[in-house]
Parts: sequence; C-alpha cells; structure tokens
Amino acid sequence: MNVPAPILRFLGAAGTVTGSKFLLTVAAHRVLIDCGLFQGLKQLRLMNWQPLPVDVHGIDAVLLTHAHLDHSGYVPALVRDGFRGKVISTPGTHSLCRVLLPDSGHLQEEEADYANAKGYSKHSPALPLYTETDAWNSLERFSPTQFDTRVELGPITAQFLRAGHIVGSSLISIEINSPRRKRILFTGDLGRPTHPILRPPAPPPAADVIVIESTYGDRIHDDAASLQRFADAISKTFERGGVVIIPSFAVDRTEVILHHLARLRDAGRIQRTPTFVDSPMALAALRIYEESIARGSPEIRTDIAHAKSFFDDQDLTEVKTVQESIRLNSMSGPMIIISASGMASGGRVLHHLKRRLPDRRNTVILVGFQAAGTRGRSLLDGAPTVKMLGDYVPVAAEIVDVPGFSSHADQREILNWLKLATVRPQIVYVVHGEPPASEALRARITHELGWNAVVPRNLEQVRID
Ligand SMILES: [Zn+2]
Repeated sequence: MNVPAPILRFLGAAGTVTGSKFLLTVAAHRVLIDCGLFQGLKQLRLMNWQPLPVDVHGIDAVLLTHAHLDHSGYVPALVRDGFRGKVISTPGTHSLCRVLLPDSGHLQEEEADYANAKGYSKHSPALPLYTETDAWNSLERFSPTQFDTRVELGPITAQFLRAGHIVGSSLISIEINSPRRKRILFTGDLGRPTHPILRPPAPPPAADVIVIESTYGDRIHDDAASLQRFADAISKTFERGGVVIIPSFAVDRTEVILHHLARLRDAGRIQRTPTFVDSPMALAALRIYEESIARGSPEIRTDIAHAKSFFDDQDLTEVKTVQESIRLNSMSGPMIIISASGMASGGRVLHHLKRRLPDRRNTVILVGFQAAGTRGRSLLDGAPTVKMLGDYVPVAAEIVDVPGFSSHADQREILNWLKLATVRPQIVYVVHGEPPASEALRARITHELGWNAVVPRNLEQVRID
C-alpha cells in the first residue's frame, strides 16, 4: 500500500508576522507547530475568529517554539474548542505562558466588556475570543520538556534546541521516519548572537526542510548606533526635564532595556533617574528571567549568571497596582516609564502616552518591531495624532526608533546562522515576515547560499518528499 507523503500546511504567519501555526500531517497523525494569535491590523485580528481549517479533535499534539502570543496565544481557543492532546514546550515557555495566556484571556474579556459598554461591536453582545478561565484550563494540557531531549510522538520525534530569542525559546527539529526519513526544522523566532542575557541560537541541526522566520529579513541592526541613539534620546529628554516613555514587550525586551540602562548609568553616559516598570506582566516575566538566571538554565549566558539582580537596581521602582500607575501621571520628569504593550496596542502604556504625547519635552522610544496597523507603527510613521482610549491625542513628543534592541536576528545574522548548516536543505520556507521582508530574505537565501527558497501563501499546503 502506498503511504501518503507527509504534508505541511501554513495556517498563519505566511505573508504576515503573526498567527504562527504550521500543521504537519504524517499518515493519520497531526501535529501543530505553534498556535499563535493574529495581531495588528483589524483584518488580521478578525482571522482569529475564523474556524481553523482542520478538525481540532484530530490534532494529536501542539509543539510551541516560545511563549510570545503570536506563537502561543491561540492555545486557549484550541483547547476550549475540543483539542485534547498535549501542548509540549520547554519549561521556560511553560512558565511564561502561565503569565501571558491568562492575561491575554483577561484582556479579551475586558475588550468585550468595553465594546458592550460603548455599544461599538457589530455583534451583540460582543464576546471575548476566549476567557481567562479558558486560558487556565488550557495550561493543564502543557507538558514541559527539557532542551535537547527527544520526544516521541507517534511517527515523529521532536527535539527543542536553544533559539536565543526569549527565555524558553526553541528551534524545533522534527524527524519523520516513515515512509521515508525526513527532517524539518522550525526556527520559531530566531534570536541574536549579541543578546546580553541569552546564549546565541544553537547551530541549525541537519534538515531537509527549514521553515524560517523573516521579521527583519530586509534589515540590519546596528547595535552600537542603537545604544548611542538610546543614550542620546534619554539625555536630551532629561535636559528638557521631560519623561521618557518606553512601550515595551513585557517579555525579554524589558530585561534587555533594564540591562542597557544599568550599563549606561555605570558608564556615566546617562544620569541616574527614577525608572518605573509599570506592567504586572513585565514584572512577572522579570521574575521568571531571574529564576532562570539563578538556576543556571542552559540558555543563559555564563557571564550573566552571577550578575546582580534586576531588582537590586536602586533606580528601579516596580509599579504593581492601577492606583500606583495612575499616580505616575502627576509626577514630572526627568524619569523613565517602561510599560506594556510594546506596540502600544493596549495595556497601561496607553494612559502614559495619552498623558505625555502632547508635551514636546517628552520622548517615546520604540524598542521593537512595530507591526502595521498598531499605534506604535503610527507613531513611527510620524502620525500627527493617534487615537487612544476614545480620544485623538496630538503627538508633540519626540519619537525615537531603536530597532537594534530587537530580539530577532537581522538579515545578516539569519544568513550567517543558516551558513552553519552541515547539510544543504531541499527547500527553505520563509515565513513570519511582512511581504517585503520575507521576499528580501528569500532572495538572499537563493542568491547567497544557492538554496531553493519560497515564501508560502497562507493556507498553502506542501508535500514533504
Ligand atoms: Zn517571539
């Protein structure tokens, strides 16, 4: 009897940076690699509401590369809709998901309540995509596995290797043994060799097929220039007596920013000022980073293992309650407020931006990728006003972009990493990027490495043979 070839289907992050979901079918066995939310533009967010083009009951396992919501945030919906298999991830990803998923459910409930109160939903009543309870229920399905251990899942074997992007982040190497031996490598989000806390990504294991991210597939980060721009923006703002607002991704970016601030202060490049971390999620993530550092997790740089705690920083103030957060509104600069979300699409940073954007003494420093359709992108593109919390807010504050603090490898770093491959892959699928970025990386892979590379379309399926 002819055994059908394994099939890989792209159910997200094809032609966009969010919604990562890759379905691998081997005979009757189905495994979903990543289970992320679509984020950013409304037309993308609406895709979270479309039923998956696959029977959820027929998925045997979910493997997560890391905890960012664009890779993990759909898990609660999948479990609520009937998925009964295991969600396999590293322990770090599991710890971070325990923070991120319930918060995501809580935010969706809040948004639905807000829409109902304001009457602006097309649906009556507006419903959350999933609830905080759905998120806690889905966490019971998690089954953490250590880095480098081989996990048997029916006809496939999976292995999680260091990706160096955030704590717990992993490349997932999958081996299919039948009808023919095939190896597929999913990069998830690929970290940078210069990450100040995490070790560089593991070299790529031998693979016939590589599915690679391309968030910064058309750009090169300049670390020294980024740090200089960061320091200059802070110093100039302090001279004006202004406030620096840093919308920050709760996980990893906050740790990297605090690390750089401490270094700049130690070197006398910026003055000491009160620094507030105003995000319960960022503070929870900070504790998970501290734990990973304290227990000497294999993904942590050895030179950071004995560094002093983030919380020992005398300038750092944790802002836990909403009242404490609101109190910051009446304080004047110089000071730094680090608050989520990183693309200003929600969270406490909105009320800080609303308060501080109209004053030209202040500065907003954007320290990560700003997806199309987000307020962060509008600010980056020079919008004279941005709408938030129901009002149009004039933008007088200085807007500074520091993309070098990204925890995604840039084009050169991705190519250098691919060059470490000991086996030439049959094909590379370039995913998780906006179309120009994916296409630029595809062209470099084809011309510089001479490899077959393709940017797949959303919902496209390909045979692995
Ligand atoms: Zn990520």
